[in-house]
Amino acid sequence: MKPPEPDPIFEVSLRPPMFSEFTGQVKVCERLAVLVEAAKMRGDVLEHILLSGPPGLGKTTLAHIIANAMGVSVKNTSGPVIEKAGELAGLLTSLEKGDVLFIDEIHRLQPTIEEYLYPAMEDYRLDIIIDQGPQARSLRLQLPKFTLIGATTRAGMVSAPLRSRFGMTARLDYYAAEEMHKIITRSAGLLGVEVDQAGAAEIAARTRGTPRTANNLLRWVRDFAQVKSDGKITEDVADRALTMLEIDRDGFDQWDKRVIEALIHKFNGGPVGLNSLAVAIGEEAGTLEEVNEPYLIMEGYIKRTPQGRVAMPNAYRKLGLKPPAGPQTDLFG
Ligand code: ADP
Repeated sequence: MKPPEPDPIFEVSLRPPMFSEFTGQVKVCERLAVLVEAAKMRGDVLEHILLSGPPGLGKTTLAHIIANAMGVSVKNTSGPVIEKAGELAGLLTSLEKGDVLFIDEIHRLQPTIEEYLYPAMEDYRLDIIIDQGPQARSLRLQLPKFTLIGATTRAGMVSAPLRSRFGMTARLDYYAAEEMHKIITRSAGLLGVEVDQAGAAEIAARTRGTPRTANNLLRWVRDFAQVKSDGKITEDVADRALTMLEIDRDGFDQWDKRVIEALIHKFNGGPVGLNSLAVAIGEEAGTLEEVNEPYLIMEGYIKRTPQGRVAMPNAYRKLGLKPPAGPQTDLFG
């Protein structure tokens, strides 16, 4: 059973609207708040900002908080959605001065679209080629001064020319258990669900430091509590609900378990290439790399090496096995 999918309406309703309600990422928030304050004091438009980090950590939320704090509107889009220069032109020309254009998954923009974006970001102009062959003409559009906020789960895949055009880049990290506890308590309050301290802590421990996961798990535990108990979320209710979803005490779901099981049992601990590992567990390579791996790497279960993915001692222990000694441990170093 896969954890419940995010529900867009539910996500928006739980999204903190301002910095003061946004838990964690303290340094990033402080820096962003200074940028916002300075731009407001100068009566200027905010510079372009690139936010990176694994999915569900609050990049979209922060983009909206920034726009709220600036008192401007946001237009949302995503890298793979913009297929033609005309679509980009449509978005950019619909902005008002100071507005935010939020591009999610910006590393997936087509190179040709990226080329159009450079002068738009730098000089607020767009040179569009219309017609083809001998009739081809270039049309220059002057754009309002705007702020581009890009989000990416793959900072390394944002091209150098694009990255250099952002005034600020900020990386979001997984949240600590106490921060997750706070987020769960806040979300429960908004949903009108009763959760005690131990219940919130039990959910927090199993969220992999990811607010989106926390909200999804909370939604599931709420339903479970309604059906199987008296509606109140206690430690016992949370534990039973999450065990039913097969999410263990380390926040591992079935897919995480499959990753380390395949790595150890099918590939002898690695190294093995991403694609082979993905095929072995029946998951897409992109999902494996962007969703499962960052957490497994951070928690020291697996490691990326130039030769491929390697199981770390923690992964063996997780499966109740003894980590191997010998030459393979060189790869752990
Ligand atoms: P991303 O864009 O990084 O994938 P989102 O900004 O869409 O992540 O966040 C996912 C959900 O998690 C949001 O709906 C929001 O409710 C919640 N969330 C994210 N960060 C926080 C936070 N710091 N405090 C409270 N809720 C948060």
